[in-house]
Amino acid sequence: MARKYEGKAVGIDLGTTYSCVAVWQEQNSRVEIIHNDQGNRTTPSFVAFTEEQRLVGDAAKNQAAANPQNTVFDAKRLIGRKFSDQVVRDDILLWPFKVVAGINDKPMITVNYKNQEKQLCAEEVSSMILTKMREISETYLGSPVKNAVVTVPAYFSDSQRKATIDASAIAGLNVMRIMNEPTAAAVAYGLDKITNCVGERNIFVFDLGGGTFDVSLLTIKDNVFQVKATAGNTHLGGEDFDNRMVDYFVQEFKRKKKLDISGNPRALRRLRTACERAKRTLSFLVVATVEVDSLFQGIDFSSSINRAKFEEMNMDLFDECTKIVESCLIDAKMDKSKVDDVVLVGGSSRIPKVQQLLQEFFKGKELCKSINPDEAVAYGAAVQAALLCEDVKNVPKLVLQDVTPLSLGRSIVGDIMSVVIPRNTCIPVKKTRPYVTIEDNQSSSTIAVYEGERTRASDNNFLGSFILSGHTLAPRGLPLDVCFAIDENGILTVSAKEKCSGKMNEITISNHKERMSAEEIKKLIKEAESYRVEDMKFLRKAEAVNALDHYIYKMRNALKKKDINLKLSSQKIRKIESAITVATNMLDEDHHHNDSHVLENHLKELKIEFDYIIAKTI
Ligand code: AMP
Repeated sequence: MARKYEGKAVGIDLGTTYSCVAVWQEQNSRVEIIHNDQGNRTTPSFVAFTEEQRLVGDAAKNQAAANPQNTVFDAKRLIGRKFSDQVVRDDILLWPFKVVAGINDKPMITVNYKNQEKQLCAEEVSSMILTKMREISETYLGSPVKNAVVTVPAYFSDSQRKATIDASAIAGLNVMRIMNEPTAAAVAYGLDKITNCVGERNIFVFDLGGGTFDVSLLTIKDNVFQVKATAGNTHLGGEDFDNRMVDYFVQEFKRKKKLDISGNPRALRRLRTACERAKRTLSFLVVATVEVDSLFQGIDFSSSINRAKFEEMNMDLFDECTKIVESCLIDAKMDKSKVDDVVLVGGSSRIPKVQQLLQEFFKGKELCKSINPDEAVAYGAAVQAALLCEDVKNVPKLVLQDVTPLSLGRSIVGDIMSVVIPRNTCIPVKKTRPYVTIEDNQSSSTIAVYEGERTRASDNNFLGSFILSGHTLAPRGLPLDVCFAIDENGILTVSAKEKCSGKMNEITISNHKERMSAEEIKKLIKEAESYRVEDMKFLRKAEAVNALDHYIYKMRNALKKKDINLKLSSQKIRKIESAITVATNMLDEDHHHNDSHVLENHLKELKIEFDYIIAKTI
């Protein structure tokens, strides 16, 4: 039986571009999407570093154009990947921030914070976003939040899932379950369907977000959500469409102004922001303008793009989406005519051409747009979180059955991938496959574990390996059992047993060199705490400056009163004037260096001395 968790738990959609947090509300038996401090229902997955402070979310995104090298986004594209990964190499060319190779080929983001160079791994950046989402929910719920269901693209590999769990741990969150994004979306959509669902209903979830594309085919029957198949591309989404448009306008600028802005991160960032806006406009209008004041060397840029051009430049990417849809149906062995509902999820599913191609593929079927594509994933995660909690009432009793997105196996002689668990197998699952030794008197066997669909093991993603030693000395053909077990989070444990001697060995693929060690996580938790302390310090200082500034304003206003000379003696007026000068100097000259308590104490003294005098002027 699944473990039950105490206290409030939330569902977090940790998106490439935006994140969203939601909670199950017992009182009205529905999911609440939680607003952030800016009143927005989604929060940009951005973290920025300046000379003075660290910013997360809207505040970070809003200053991105002015501080491109130190504004980090897309951490989800890096999480659980190696620096040498081609996907990472391609992304780096497009990012304004620097990424270098760290220990064990781990990509490290390099930023300047308080005039010092800092290196961060993707888990650390993601943890900052998760911390923000935790804080947003704590403010809303008025109590600490420790447990969460965090979503990942269905196509995320084992190491990407584990890295997401590590990021959550750094953010002080216990991951109750890693949930696949399309499954979460299907739950959100299916919640009102299950009540009037007669027999079986097949739901196809099409999730095209900012950086990833995921599709899943699910079947709902008697409150059981079963994933039949899933497919996707962890590197296909809105940002790719933005990049195409950026390239197009970079060329146009080159042609018209004979200037190349491709090496200028600030200009590129500003152009990308304008392109993203234009792309969104093209979902509603047929033409959009792209304008950036003083784009490069003081030259303004103004142009326009029509929907047809936008579609033409992205057609190969849209076609790629259709191919993936098709492959998912093939994997599920289901004809498209059997699909009852096609659900749209992810901001990029609003693109008219994408919708048109999808509708055509499903022979004109009406697409379901009833749930907000930006919120559906967090919505479903919140339902799952409530289901896993103790004492949460009124949650629909759903059963979720997910599948493994990639085949898992071991390499055997000749670098062949021997699959133990084929992709799209329902999880949790445990499968054992018999093997034999290949040499006479073989004393040990190496079990190298891979995930992927390629026939050659080394073409797949290497997850880890272990040695089973102390074999009974025997001619080749000594039997070995290799067992692969995947838990509810999609996390894999592999064990091997030599049957004659009964000797066993196993690994949870957690000590793989890309995964963080407990010590590293502890270190980053400590660092996160020091960031929090610094953020609080900055906030306290800003509040102290504001409060003193406001008091100066009050004193100035008092002096502006028409009948001030009748209300106060000239000595008191001079006293206020000189206090204004002293306080103003304190703010002007020593703005950055005064500790907040110096400013706070000064304000206290001013209040003791002048509150009573100012009151007389009213
Ligand atoms: P998500 O990862 O689901 O939050 O999706 C974010 C992506 O959706 C970003 O690339 C946005 O630019 C894109 N997006 C949001 N709204 C629209 C829209 N109306 N038309 C096209 N793309 C959009």
